[in-house]
Amino acid sequence: MKKVSDYFGCKVFDDRVMKARLSSKVYQSLRKTIDEGAKLDISVANAVAAAMKDWAVENGATHYTHWFQPLTGVTAEKHDSFISPSPDGGVIMEFSGKELIKGEPDASSFPSGGLRATFEARGYTAWDPTSYAFIKGKSLCIPTAFCSYGGEALDKKTPLLRSMEALNRQAMRILHLFGNEDVKCVRTSVGPEQEYFLITEEMYEQRKDIRFTGRTLFGAKPPKGQEMDDHYFGVIKPRVAAYMDELNEELWKLGILAKTEHNEVAPAQHELAPIYTTTNIATDHNQLTMEIMQKVAAKHGLVCLLHEKPFAGVNGSGKHNNWSLATDKGVNLLSPGETPYENAQFLLFLCAVIKAVDDYQDLLRLSVATAGNDHRLGANEAPPAVVSIFLGDELNGVLEAIENDAPYAGTEKTQMKLGVNVLPKFNRDTTDRNRTSPFAFTGNKFEFRMLGSSNSIACANIMLNSAVAESLKIYADRLEKAEDFENALHEMIRKTIKDHKHIIFNGNGYDDTWIKEATEKRGLLNYRTTPDCMPHLLDEKNVRMLTSHKVFSEAELKSRCEIMLDNYCKTVLIEANTMIDMAKTEIAPAVSEYVLELAKTAAAKKAAESSISCNYETGLLKKLAILEDQIMIKAEELEDAVLKVQDITDITEESCMIRDSVLSKMGELRIACDSAETMTAKKFWPFPTYGDLLFSVR
Ligand code: ADP
Ligand code: MG
Repeated sequence: MKKVSDYFGCKVFDDRVMKARLSSKVYQSLRKTIDEGAKLDISVANAVAAAMKDWAVENGATHYTHWFQPLTGVTAEKHDSFISPSPDGGVIMEFSGKELIKGEPDASSFPSGGLRATFEARGYTAWDPTSYAFIKGKSLCIPTAFCSYGGEALDKKTPLLRSMEALNRQAMRILHLFGNEDVKCVRTSVGPEQEYFLITEEMYEQRKDIRFTGRTLFGAKPPKGQEMDDHYFGVIKPRVAAYMDELNEELWKLGILAKTEHNEVAPAQHELAPIYTTTNIATDHNQLTMEIMQKVAAKHGLVCLLHEKPFAGVNGSGKHNNWSLATDKGVNLLSPGETPYENAQFLLFLCAVIKAVDDYQDLLRLSVATAGNDHRLGANEAPPAVVSIFLGDELNGVLEAIENDAPYAGTEKTQMKLGVNVLPKFNRDTTDRNRTSPFAFTGNKFEFRMLGSSNSIACANIMLNSAVAESLKIYADRLEKAEDFENALHEMIRKTIKDHKHIIFNGNGYDDTWIKEATEKRGLLNYRTTPDCMPHLLDEKNVRMLTSHKVFSEAELKSRCEIMLDNYCKTVLIEANTMIDMAKTEIAPAVSEYVLELAKTAAAKKAAESSISCNYETGLLKKLAILEDQIMIKAEELEDAVLKVQDITDITEESCMIRDSVLSKMGELRIACDSAETMTAKKFWPFPTYGDLLFSVR
């Protein structure tokens, strides 16, 4: 048995390799760039590139690639080999500092939302030295940001790094006010819990819908689904265990801290969680994790489904974004402290998050909006589309006491008066009793639970970081000018609680009465679908906030809104076309064949003995004949709906029309086909059923 500690990170050009392979001068200089964002000298870049290349070649690499995350949501790479001709007719392996720092993929086909004119189609990639380079297959992968020549971000990484910087800037101001002079920077960290489904390759191959769209578009409810809850945390089946073993090994080699794995609620559903790390690295790692999950599955004759809703009527897959912020000294700013003074600082950061989530509910909602995730949010399995915060009883009690200047009846009775010195000391509450909240405080971090399983975590964290940076900026502006710091601090905390307590909800988020209360009494936003929320990216308050922190330019925001809506439209239209195709060329012919068989049987029975009953055949035949007609009618109506959309040029209008007409027609076609499935003999049905799919992996 190989020891994990022997091969962990063996494919990563990490700190251990840097230390061993770089001169101490080059190492120090690179560390300064990584830790403090210092500018990198070209001579240092050359030395780093040479060392990287030697290390990569020794480890079997022949190529290098700038690895980036365009707005498609997946990762992109273009491979160049290290070879360079030598005068004697052979080749040498070369890699310069320039090639390390900047790349120019001919990337004209990536979505840019109009940011790049085609005559200037080339974007460029720029090295992100804070995320380690790694080897994948035979290529050295260099994590990069992807920008246009005008400097506009064409990827998810660039605004993520900008949002981390914005948060760092504002958090540092606050920390200075609290006298933390030794802190050099504040970073956010994230641990994303990733859910997924496994089915066999054999089943996958037979379903066009899963192949083309990642989810089933048809399928009657199986006799057994998730009602027994017998899968959740159940014994992992041998084939799945073998898959998880290899997955862990591959992730560990890449330095990804895969930590826990278990079965989820739905049959065939599983979860993998890593140990948290700095947000941009966690983002890279999560993208890699999703890629490796699919690759390893293929080796085991399995297919890993990362879609948010692969099966109707069965829980979908999400991704919990556990988020906190910490200083370079390792102090978690969302961890209640030992002393009232530490707690004052904690409460201020807590309030900054509460205010941010309330003020920018719309941005958080739209950061997780995709056609796939629209099937989950609010469907009694994932948090609703309404954003709210869960704090737990203990913390809630503290906040209520502060708001009302009442004694805090927690662990010790403390009279709440003004000032830092009397902010209460309370115990850290680590219980996470509420699983239905979209945004839950879990002791020393927040868990944002609205993300879909296939989402890049970049978008959610960009919005979260920026919104919290904005709260902190408002606080710092006021506190820096305050004559009596403690008084001003206490008043600000109180005011935040008063103004924003409507976003705090500690009850059951799956309950319908909550949605009524949230929207009618509390005035919280409820954007059910992607077309509902996405246009709010361009609301004046949002543009102002995001541009003032230099996370996005206005042009970038416009382009992103357009790309996301375009993505929504394309996704649903591909689904619609796949449904039409399956209904017409697979389902209707199968039903028709069975109807013919029934007719033949009935006729044969009558011929054999005229008094014999053929009620079964004729009864069923009649029902199926009606359904056959329905299937064709509904398929044609869906075709019409799809055609109508093509005349619309405005993307927002198009997305609304798709939501209202195309999706509802898809639903109607599905109902007809699914009822036909329940009446058609199994051997006639053209593809595996839900029962086959969900219980295929043993
Ligand atoms: P669960 O949510 O299942 O109770 P945990 O609370 O142990 O599990 O952790 C879930 C995820 O949260 C893990 O990925 C873990 O690394 C991450 N996590 C723990 N502490 C922090 C933190 N301070 N910041 C960000 N993520 C964290
Ligand atoms: Mg969790």
